[in-house]
Amino acid sequence: MRKILKVLLPLLLITLAAAPALAAKRFVTIGTGGVTGVYYPVGKAIAKMVNAQGKQYGLRVTVESTGGSVFNINAVLGGDLDFGVAQSDRQYEAVHGLAEWKTKGKQGKLRSVFSLHPETFFMVASQNSGIKGYADLQGKAVAVGNPGSGTRQNSKDILAAYGLSLESLGRAEGLKASESAKVLQDGRVDAFAYTVGNPAGLIKEATSGRVKVRFLPTTDDALAKLLKNRPYYVKASIPVHFYEQALDKKDVPTFAVKATFVTRAGMPDEVVYAITKMVFTNLAALKKLHPALEVLKPRDMLQGLSAPLHPGALKYFKEAGLK
Ligand code: GLU
Repeated sequence: MRKILKVLLPLLLITLAAAPALAAKRFVTIGTGGVTGVYYPVGKAIAKMVNAQGKQYGLRVTVESTGGSVFNINAVLGGDLDFGVAQSDRQYEAVHGLAEWKTKGKQGKLRSVFSLHPETFFMVASQNSGIKGYADLQGKAVAVGNPGSGTRQNSKDILAAYGLSLESLGRAEGLKASESAKVLQDGRVDAFAYTVGNPAGLIKEATSGRVKVRFLPTTDDALAKLLKNRPYYVKASIPVHFYEQALDKKDVPTFAVKATFVTRAGMPDEVVYAITKMVFTNLAALKKLHPALEVLKPRDMLQGLSAPLHPGALKYFKEAGLK
């Protein structure tokens, strides 16, 4: 017995001594999007960086693939996720209690942390479908974005600018983004929508299949209608050099938003501060982890935020002279 105690006691003491350190470890989750989008690899890049350097803060980040912006905002607010990536336009609507939040009202607990890469709206149509412009979508089968995505409302908004709606399509499908390229290639839909950073794996997949595809251009007239009363959309173009096998050889006019990083009020300041600081002080390394991040500049990363800044992020921005 004595002998056993002699062996076990030091072990027990070591375990007890290590206990506070373990308790101090905090697990945080980040909600992203489909695995072939940009949110997911960007979330992974942030997690990789924080996990490599976050020991001093006792942080361990895990990333979840989700349905996208709207799902992430709601899951962050509901406490199922700690952080989420969400389109700047959906952040605006949540804060103002519009669109997907019309019945729930203003989401006063949403907090912004920083913004990330720009995202362009794609309407990808197969050559076989004969669709060349938005007006041709009438009566066609279109994957407009799954419920929970930010893409879905963007589809509705651009269709409305052409005097169309989900009802004027032959079939509006709510498929997950990650399935859309395959379904388009199989001829089960004529077109699919996706609001995503560049380059995006899914768009590469859609453009490199047997069936040739094109990106639908927005007309100036439709863009003017779309941008009216919607401060979060900007005119942009799809950089086709990323998608060499697409039928389009020149950049295609469309609209864009920004990916943003959000959390909720009540998330501990030190957690938000640590993540913000690590992202901003390791930006050069982070940019190397995904080409969509190459364009990031610290000052721009404070734009596109409608929800109040989380105090943990604000603390870092003040320290860094960014605010
Ligand atoms: N912006 C897309 C959405 O919220 C997700 C894009 C991505 O996963 O990169 O629907």
